[in-house]
Amino acid sequence: MRPETIAIRTQTERTGEKEHSTPLFLTSSFVYDSAEDMAAAFSDDTLDVNIYSRFSNPTVDEFIKKVCLLEGAEDGIATGTGMASVFSTFMTFLSAGDHIVSASAVFGSTHTILTKYMPKWGIEFSYFNMNEPQSIEALIKPNTKMLYVETPSNPGLDIIDLKYVADICKKHNILFVVDNCFATPAVQQPLSFGADLVIHSATKFMDGQGRVLGGVVVGNKDLVKQLYLFVRNTGPSLSPFNAWVLSKSLETLYVRMEKHAANAMHIAKALEGHPTLSWVKYPYLPSHPQFAIAQKQMNNGGGILTFELKSGLEGGRKFLNSLKWLSMTNNLGDSRTIASHPASTTHSKLSPEERAAVGITPGLIRLSVGLEHPDDILEEILQALENK
Ligand SMILES: *Cc1c(COP(=O)(O)O)cnc(C)c1O
Repeated sequence: MRPETIAIRTQTERTGEKEHSTPLFLTSSFVYDSAEDMAAAFSDDTLDVNIYSRFSNPTVDEFIKKVCLLEGAEDGIATGTGMASVFSTFMTFLSAGDHIVSASAVFGSTHTILTKYMPKWGIEFSYFNMNEPQSIEALIKPNTKMLYVETPSNPGLDIIDLKYVADICKKHNILFVVDNCFATPAVQQPLSFGADLVIHSATKFMDGQGRVLGGVVVGNKDLVKQLYLFVRNTGPSLSPFNAWVLSKSLETLYVRMEKHAANAMHIAKALEGHPTLSWVKYPYLPSHPQFAIAQKQMNNGGGILTFELKSGLEGGRKFLNSLKWLSMTNNLGDSRTIASHPASTTHSKLSPEERAAVGITPGLIRLSVGLEHPDDILEEILQALENK
């Protein structure tokens, strides 16, 4: 079956009720038929018996199974948030004395884990610029265990050649971990280019309607087993209720991502060259610096675009205040179009130099393009640009 069908048709076994839709197993634990069964369930190697929903749950498993099939992965784990997935991955595979090489343009909280917490536990990090992949190899040291990227990055929309980085990781025998949140498996499958583990904040496009938080990590069985034991014992597990919402959401992932991308492309093209803007950035615009790589590894340009207001920091505030109905919020990957101005909000505490280093210019607006009519979105933006 093709991924569009798999996303819709994958489900756990039907219960005796023969329900059509995915059932929600809102239960914290599971019962046994005998003392022997119970004893057997508790051996660490028996990963396929449900014991307790911190360890596993059929609704959570259905969500994980779908993501695995869509990403082309053997196995996966799910967590309560995207950050719990990022953190669990770092904690499972990195120990005191190890070193991680990461793109500097990573999600804000990932940046905070790397710079504020990892050094506290004796784990070193080095950053590279997404636009200079040739600088990666020189950063690798004998104690380097992991290489970490987000592509496209948030909010810079920088793109890195996954195959190129995967080859470097193979050569040096280090784990290659990709946060695929901006693309989703409908747009890009990092494992097929040689990544070892793929992480998602399921909160974003996977839910797609701004309702629940969730995270998921998928990859090969042996790596996932280590992650599973970490999550099972430390407890950042995904709630069955949220897994149920996410599992239903995945059924529409492919149609949604196509529409997000078509709307984003329409708006990006219409805005490019607008007199109030210095530039417009979208992975599938030929003017994107890594357009050729985007064409090679992404099925479409995704749902996020950015543009730079000539009027800078003050212009960014005015733009947001001129919006009539478009949402001003930090989330992304929603059916509702969302505008944000990182320099005056999420990244306002950084110095202008620090902001520049992660690709945040003063007048940068990030648009998470929703599923409304593209002309309504465009008209709303154009009227706000006139008032900028
Ligand atoms: C939102 C986000 C995260 C964190 O996910 P939460 O579900 O908010 O914890 C990680 N990476 C990227 C790229 C994100 O956009």
